[in-house]
Amino acid sequence: MTFLITAGPTREPIDPVRFLSNRSSGKMGYALASAALESGHRVTLISGPVCIPAPEGADLVRVTTADEMADAVQTRMDTGCDVFIMCAAVADFKPREVREGKIKKSDGLDRIDLVPTRDILSTIVLPRDHRVIIAGFSAESEDLAQSAQKKLRDKRCDILCANDITRMDTGFDADFNEVTIFFKEGSPRHFERASKLEIARQIIKICISIAENH
Ligand code: C5P
Repeated sequence: MTFLITAGPTREPIDPVRFLSNRSSGKMGYALASAALESGHRVTLISGPVCIPAPEGADLVRVTTADEMADAVQTRMDTGCDVFIMCAAVADFKPREVREGKIKKSDGLDRIDLVPTRDILSTIVLPRDHRVIIAGFSAESEDLAQSAQKKLRDKRCDILCANDITRMDTGFDADFNEVTIFFKEGSPRHFERASKLEIARQIIKICISIAENH
């Protein structure tokens, strides 16, 4: 099977040297790419700026902004894939305008106007002739189950992997994760704290089983 996986944060420029971003390390997305490769699948990994090496054998596409990630995903979706895992922590907002020159400290900056970025999962054009299994992620600090079920529906996912970001030892930037996976049908499954690679193997297994049984 062919996997299309996104990972890492995006950076939304304010001026040539400053940007808005988030704490995503890319570790979960890279672990998903490794897990899919080790089970013999082809992987395209679309990655925002991260400091970790790409797994050997992945076709790596580097992007910086949310708009670049959306374009790269659409291009690869048009080429075809069986499973699409949107693990990247895409910035939800970007500055309305990017200043051409560096903003001088002496000039001051009392506000940055933001506009929403395009939601990749909800707006990507899926192939008509080929069913793609879609997995989304969500980082929640409250009402995890309710909010995950809503995202699962709104973002057209087959599964949604939710983690609780109030926990410091799992999730963002950590080597471990603990997730609850929500399905379109059936009860959620909880995966206790384990290495991101262990969790990734479970997620890949679930995606393959959905792809084989639809
Ligand atoms: O709504 P929220 O950002 O919590 O949803 C998270 C899910 O949506 C993740 O799978 C993330 O990769 C995806 N996402 C997206 N496009 C965005 C923001 C998030 O596809 N602009």
